[in-house]
Amino acid sequence: MVTVAEGVHRFGSSLVNWYLIEESGKLTIVDTGMPAYYKQLQPALDELGKTLGDVEAIVLTHTHVDHVGFCDRARSATGASVHVHELEASPGLKRVPPLRLYLRPQSWALGAHLLKTGLLKLPDLGPSTTFVDGQVLDVPGSLRVIHTPGHTSGSCCLHAPRHDALFTGDALVTLDPYTKLKGPRLMIDTVNESTSTAVASLQNVCGVDASHVLPGHGDPWRGGVAGAVERAMRSFRSAKGT
Ligand SMILES: [Zn+2]
Ligand SMILES: [Zn+2]
Repeated sequence: MVTVAEGVHRFGSSLVNWYLIEESGKLTIVDTGMPAYYKQLQPALDELGKTLGDVEAIVLTHTHVDHVGFCDRARSATGASVHVHELEASPGLKRVPPLRLYLRPQSWALGAHLLKTGLLKLPDLGPSTTFVDGQVLDVPGSLRVIHTPGHTSGSCCLHAPRHDALFTGDALVTLDPYTKLKGPRLMIDTVNESTSTAVASLQNVCGVDASHVLPGHGDPWRGGVAGAVERAMRSFRSAKGT
């Protein structure tokens, strides 16, 4: 466990993150990693001196396999409510990245890791409550939803004002696990529904007042949201050669 902001703890692996927010003794899980990361939950709770019953909510930035992984198992075990954007809740949604992504050698480590941790055990989202842009969720952390479509149509960033943090899912990452490139950036084109929409969506968050940017992949960015957005835009433009 690594504490990445006051009352916010990071778990997962070097390739995929999930988080716990602690507020007034209760917990919210933000994203649920890969299915096999379920085994990290009890030790995480033990370390925090908490029990499964202290988990009140699970909030997902989007529902790709590496973010929805142990969601339904955790929901069953804890009785927590599950929250997701209305465009991510459909059971028929494609949750696994296209196979052609794994043709490049830089992504082989990720491919092997995903296979080992449950890629083929397509997790069910299970019962969930949907949210929309601008909503403030009544969960520990009082997360405010900022819709940032592009990576997927229902991708959202989640602002935790009391924790001075913004969870960005895959709308803005500091490690692209498919290319191994680090620093604030968008994910590789192939994994985004629409990279041009993802670029435009960065404007939805650049005014958020939070020091800690906590992505779905990569280390926390400590330089504030506007700084992360600026770096991501710069990296996007240099990748496009403009
Ligand atoms: Zn994703
Ligand atoms: Zn991801």
